[in-house]
Amino acid sequence: MNGELAIALERIKKIKADRPVYQELMGFYEKIVKERDEYKKSLQLNQTPIPFEEHLEEVTLKEGFTLFEKEKLPFDYDLMKSYFSKLISLIKERALEQANSIEKMVKKEKGGFEKMITEALKRKDSTVQNPLLAFLLNETINPVMESYASYFQDKIKEGMWTQGYCPLCGSKPFMGVLKGEEGKRYLICERCSSEWLFIRVKCPYCGNEDQKKLSYFVVEDDEVNRVETCEACRKYIKIIDLRKINYSISYYIENIATLHLDMIALEKGYENDTHSLDAYQS
Ligand SMILES: [Zn+2]
Ligand SMILES: [Zn+2]
Repeated sequence: MNGELAIALERIKKIKADRPVYQELMGFYEKIVKERDEYKKSLQLNQTPIPFEEHLEEVTLKEGFTLFEKEKLPFDYDLMKSYFSKLISLIKERALEQANSIEKMVKKEKGGFEKMITEALKRKDSTVQNPLLAFLLNETINPVMESYASYFQDKIKEGMWTQGYCPLCGSKPFMGVLKGEEGKRYLICERCSSEWLFIRVKCPYCGNEDQKKLSYFVVEDDEVNRVETCEACRKYIKIIDLRKINYSISYYIENIATLHLDMIALEKGYENDTHSLDAYQS
């Protein structure tokens, strides 16, 4: 078993024990992470590296351009479709009717599966209107993006990039972490899981730097997670304080295991337009 999968399974076990409300959902994700791991392995075996001229990287990043365009990646649709079908089988165990209707939608779609993937990448409303379909498509796309991003991860040097969107693929951050003695804030890409340093007092979504309009809330008995909010755009982002923990975590699992924080944020009238909420909405 590789490190990433082992960490995710260990976290699932711990969350199941510590937060009983998540027991059922974590049982479901236990199956997903195992499939996801197999999928990532086959993606890595079959992936064509993206050609990129070494010396252009720094210039590109300094000018605020991302290293690749997610819509133009060479996708292996056969592999993606077979994973998508595996996910549908897993959904069938929980929600048979919904899963069947998704299968019908995919069959009916004129441009087929490829078009659905493209639209999900562009966030076209027609595709993402159905949260379960959006969830399945994003779950299929993101491991591909993670796989491509792994080629470039070491190219992003601290300070090279100051934007609120991912330096590699241009997507939004779905979470953040605080680390190091000074508690520097790093954002995590909703698609390729890349991390980049981002100024602490600034909203990554609208760029607001007015301290009076930036706030956060926490819930009782949880020192590790906080929700940072922006009054200028009314968006929120979940932040994990890595300084408070001494174990490894999986951002993917942590996002799911903190859905109660999303619910509180939504109740307070904040929004999050990344797809990290698909699982909760579907
Ligand atoms: Zn990214
Ligand atoms: Zn904002």
